[in-house]
Amino acid sequence: MNQIITIDGPVSSGKNSVGHLLARKLGYHFIDTGSIYRIYTLYSLEKNYLVSDLEKIDIRFKTKSHDTLIYADGIEINNRLHEPKVTEFVSKIAANPEIRSISKRIQRQIGKPQNTVMTGRDIGTEIFPDASLKIFLTASPEVRAKRRYEQLKKTKPELTLMDVLNQIRERDKMDTEREASPMRIPEDAIILDNSYLNVEQTVEKILEHYK
Ligand code: C5P
Repeated sequence: MNQIITIDGPVSSGKNSVGHLLARKLGYHFIDTGSIYRIYTLYSLEKNYLVSDLEKIDIRFKTKSHDTLIYADGIEINNRLHEPKVTEFVSKIAANPEIRSISKRIQRQIGKPQNTVMTGRDIGTEIFPDASLKIFLTASPEVRAKRRYEQLKKTKPELTLMDVLNQIRERDKMDTEREASPMRIPEDAIILDNSYLNVEQTVEKILEHYK
């Protein structure tokens, strides 16, 4: 049977960098489920797609050397998914129960046929509750804000560290307080605080549990 490793956690906890490297080391596929909600957000904003239209988008993840390319209806879409307008609205889109149930089906379809590392907010609780290894990755809000600020400051010099910290707190609040599958720590998860670990060190810790 295929193995699924789930990594859940809040904004800028390093899930995607860690998940990507872990998948590469193990020869697993890597699926970042936040991208699915980001595709839904982009299509809702730009194409006025309704919930029933979102279900029809053909979403594919392809691993190419060190990158995961994400396709929506055959078009490679990676560089559009982190546009500020998408980031601004994605948590609202992700709180919609109908959209979550469409996404749930797709996540299971994509993850099941292959050994997969899947990152998100509810992967260990809702999508793959029987996964062989579940990680809940976290770091203090201040450390996460600093990481995010370092990523954003070149393109958005007007942003302050305090703005980023406030945005992070707001997204954490929306993700944990929403009714439809809120972010929760899976009961059988390993909780890993990586405030003082880099990506390599975090992956090494996960590999110790994997072994
Ligand atoms: O991980 P990322 O920041 O790209 O996710 C974007 C948003 O999508 C999150 O803030 C969260 O609201 C939502 N999300 C979710 N469940 C997932 C993955 C992401 O609700 N499994």
